[in-house]
Amino acid sequence: MNLYDVIIIGGGPAGLAAGIYTRRAKLSSLLLEKTILGGQVAAADIIENYPGIPEITGYELSKRLHEQAEKFGLEIRYAEVTGIRVEGDKKIVLTNDGKYEGKAVIIASGAEPGRLNVKGEKEFIGKGVSYCATCDGPFFTGKEVLVIGGGDSAVTEALFLSKAASRVHIVHRRDKLRAEKINEEKARANRTIDFIWNTVVQEIAGTNVVERVLLKDVKTGQIREFKVDGVFVYVGRKPNTEFVDLDKAPAGYIKTSNAYETSVKGIFAAGDCTSPLWKQIVTAIGEGAKAAMSAERYLEGLI
Ligand code: NAP
Repeated sequence: MNLYDVIIIGGGPAGLAAGIYTRRAKLSSLLLEKTILGGQVAAADIIENYPGIPEITGYELSKRLHEQAEKFGLEIRYAEVTGIRVEGDKKIVLTNDGKYEGKAVIIASGAEPGRLNVKGEKEFIGKGVSYCATCDGPFFTGKEVLVIGGGDSAVTEALFLSKAASRVHIVHRRDKLRAEKINEEKARANRTIDFIWNTVVQEIAGTNVVERVLLKDVKTGQIREFKVDGVFVYVGRKPNTEFVDLDKAPAGYIKTSNAYETSVKGIFAAGDCTSPLWKQIVTAIGEGAKAAMSAERYLEGLI
């Protein structure tokens, strides 16, 4: 079996940045990705807060990161990691498609969309319930949709949906958004978008596809039926860290040192799997680069 200097788990911005840095340091490096390169970013419509690039689509940025990593010789394989076993100085990365050995590991497994956990949500996934406006938005051309959440994802994806849908209602459990003010202003100025404040979705229903939801006003307790064709859920993220047995914060985020090292020597972590606080492309890329430099120092016996 090939013994890599570094195995990177996850092909989002943090993982690809780590790969660019480890390859530039001439470390043999393998990146394992379970679905598509780019992670959450690949499905983002327009990114306009990445310094130095005033505007770019999520797809284009992912493609550029991928091409840059490959230019430096990063090996990429598609497999789902199921665990990491430590044997002396070696880390055995177990996947659904065999195992790989590395001297150091960088976990950049990201986070996945949070669920509402209400009746009907699971049953109607792909039949009106979606977690990706960029992927599913075009199916709702001329239709009426709800976007659940008050963060930047909800607001930016509502803006994207407003280009095709006849009406976009942002349903938020409070009366203040969490989103950046610049995004809030755009949504408030958009004639296709309106807000339903202090409200949560209690149930999603329909015959074969979503036809209606039950909305609950959290202040009055009043429940009403609301006719709608689609429900886009943007209620935060859950870290993809269940496959590793490392020290974690209660919500599952991997704890790291300042050098991005986890509770196991030689295993580093970066990006959205480590903290709920930043979740920015620019921070994920910065952390991926820092974790890669730390892995290099670890391999040189310097930390
Ligand atoms: P987020 O900022 O954590 O927002 C999640 C939203 O969902 C909050 O408004 C929260 O309400 C609400 N929520 C949580 N659980 C809920 C539930 N069970 N039912 C109803 N509502 C619920 O997540 P995000 O919007 O995905 O953003 C994640 C990070 O990415 C943020 O740092 C954000 O700035 C960044 N981002 C930035 C951009 C950009 O264009 N700059 C775009 C996308 C994402 P409360 O507010 O009441 O907690």
